[in-house]
This record gives sequence, C-alpha cells and structure tokens, in this order.
Amino acid sequence: MTDEELQQLVETVSLNYFGRPFQHQATFNRRLRTTGGRYRLGDHNLEINPRMLSEHGETVLVGVIKHELCHYHLHLSGQSGQHRTAAFKTLLAQVGGLRYAPAPAKPTPRPRQWQCYECTQCGQRYYRARRINLKKMVCGRCRGRLAWQGTVVAAQRPQ
Ligand SMILES: [Zn+2]
Ligand SMILES: [Zn+2]
Repeated sequence: MTDEELQQLVETVSLNYFGRPFQHQATFNRRLRTTGGRYRLGDHNLEINPRMLSEHGETVLVGVIKHELCHYHLHLSGQSGQHRTAAFKTLLAQVGGLRYAPAPAKPTPRPRQWQCYECTQCGQRYYRARRINLKKMVCGRCRGRLAWQGTVVAAQRPQ
C-alpha cells in the first residue's frame, strides 16, 4: 500500500465512521516501533506504522486509523483528545477503534552455524557457536576427549 492509498483509506474511514472529512496528510512511518500510529498535534498529520498492515492485516490497520482519527477529530473540535478522557473512550468505542496496537511480531531468528563436537568416550554431543580448543576442553559428563564432527546450520542451538 502506498502513501496515496493510505491517504485515501484514512479519508474514507473518516467520512464513513466519523461523518467528517480528514483534511490533512496521512503517511507511513517505518521508524515507529511499538506504536501503531501517531497523531501530530503540531500539524494535524497522521503517521501510521506500516507493520500494522504487513504483519497484522487490513482490519488492524483500519483499527489503528480509527484510533488516530479519534485524536484528530477531538483535537480539532477543541478537546484534548487524550487517551484517559471520557470523550476519547466513548468515541473510540463508537467507531470500533483499537485501544492498543498489537505487539510487533518477534523477529524470526536467522539460521547460523553451530560447531558439533562429540565425546570420543561416552558419545555425548555438544553444539557451540564458536570453535573450541580441543586441547583444553573435555567432556562435561565423563572428562573424555572431544572430537569435532562438523558444522550444522540452524536458527537455534541443536539439542
Ligand atoms: Zn493514541
Ligand atoms: Zn563423555
């Protein structure tokens, strides 16, 4: 979705749910991290976290837009429009906006290399992110000598 399409969507949501036009700018801001969006008191523009759409879909995106439009319309009609006010809570419930933006998805761990070692005596396996000094390290179970088995690629340390 482009900024132009976002602008269109915000204008449509504003007319359909608030019965009032949105007459400022709405843009995606990928620097927003934990918040879904932001209403800028200074210039009345809206910024939306693009991950609300890419990670959570259009329903959540619209929920966030409604939330920001509550700030927008209350502020422009001379009210504070802050979260704790009754006016904000009532309007948010009326239009079905989201109270909180959903938590950002956890980043998927990238696969990395693990060095596999096996005890020559008891067969216990060890996986380490770094190579170890086989002259110094011995098996934690039986004090036996370890032998390097090779490299494994996995996101998490193999068991
Ligand atoms: Zn808010
Ligand atoms: Zn051992």
